[in-house]
Amino acid sequence: MTAPRTFRIAAIPADGVGKEVVAAGRAVLDALAEDSAGAFAFEWEEFPWGCEYYERTGKMMDEDGLDQLKDFDAIYFGAVGWPTVPDHISLWGLRLKICQSFDQWANIRPVHFLPGVTSPLRKADDTELDWVVVRENSEGEYAGLGGRNLSGRGQGGEVAVQTALFTEVGCERIMRFAFDLARTRTRRKVSSVTKSNAQQYGMVLWDDVFKRVSADYPDVETESVLVDAMSAKFVLRPEDLSVVVASNLNADILSDLGSALAGSLGLAASANLNPERRFPSMFEPVHGSAPDIAGQGLANPIGAVGSAALMLDHLGLPAQAARLHRAIEATTAAGILTRDLGGTATTDDVTKALIDGLNA
Ligand code: ATP
Ligand code: MG
Repeated sequence: MTAPRTFRIAAIPADGVGKEVVAAGRAVLDALAEDSAGAFAFEWEEFPWGCEYYERTGKMMDEDGLDQLKDFDAIYFGAVGWPTVPDHISLWGLRLKICQSFDQWANIRPVHFLPGVTSPLRKADDTELDWVVVRENSEGEYAGLGGRNLSGRGQGGEVAVQTALFTEVGCERIMRFAFDLARTRTRRKVSSVTKSNAQQYGMVLWDDVFKRVSADYPDVETESVLVDAMSAKFVLRPEDLSVVVASNLNADILSDLGSALAGSLGLAASANLNPERRFPSMFEPVHGSAPDIAGQGLANPIGAVGSAALMLDHLGLPAQAARLHRAIEATTAAGILTRDLGGTATTDDVTKALIDGLNA
């Protein structure tokens, strides 16, 4: 028998429901490994960072935290944020610090409709609806450029400027990533999203780069759509989408819309990738710490388990990722749904069903 491939995973549950859904995801992944006849195993290390850690120590993570993380095969993250800690401290002190330091410039957020889940869309039970938002995760509107209290401008009162940064290199790499992803999908199509009719510098550069890069992918269908029109398209013609590539802010908003259309924020998975693999990539549900339901066993673990599937893909275990997807579909199809989906199942009930569904 060959030695099992052991993947070292750093778990950072952080705050609120993050703790519940990371525990659920770990249980499902451990069950999967146990069932692999020794083919692979996970070796976990859990880090206690987050808002409680901040309240004890004045830091969201250890000073040398990035050093502690840098040799793991992947990071499995819960959610960060708590009402007692300002967002700019909690978010920048942990999650965004990891994203930026590990150059996780590609963020992917699949939108996938599940059997047995009703959604605001008429096509709710059409499980064929399936697209991916590719989010530029390193620059754009979230570059952190600008300032407040700029004197000598405006008509009195404080003035603030928030600048979006677009670089040719940044645009090109996220677009090539999107095109390469499109080539792995049944529908080879990339939709590029901007607001270049109103934002005439950065977004026009984005459009120019998109045109140039698309020439290298003649086998992939393309379209350029303004973000307002794309919001309508998500609702009215989602069957026309496959890969949607957008800047940091636009993709952030569109992917939340996508997950709401699929039925709940609790279903949405994401991956923050360092495609060059110089640093570990990070896998996390799209939702936040949900203080309103934290600690009550009500959190939907499917977003976290879907993120675990993206992690398996990244680790070179696509067949195992597919097993997780089948387990998720078997669970929702059987009507085992948490409260956000109109059901009465607890986090543990769903986790148990997912484990039972691994052989579905
Ligand atoms: P963030 O600022 O971190 O994005 P947020 O303020 O957008 O967080 P969330 O914490 O994601 O908000 O919660 C938004 C709503 O979605 C809340 O009503 C919450 O209860 C619900 N929600 C979030 N995650 C889940 C989940 N896993 N299961 C069920 N409901 C959830
Ligand atoms: Mg949010």
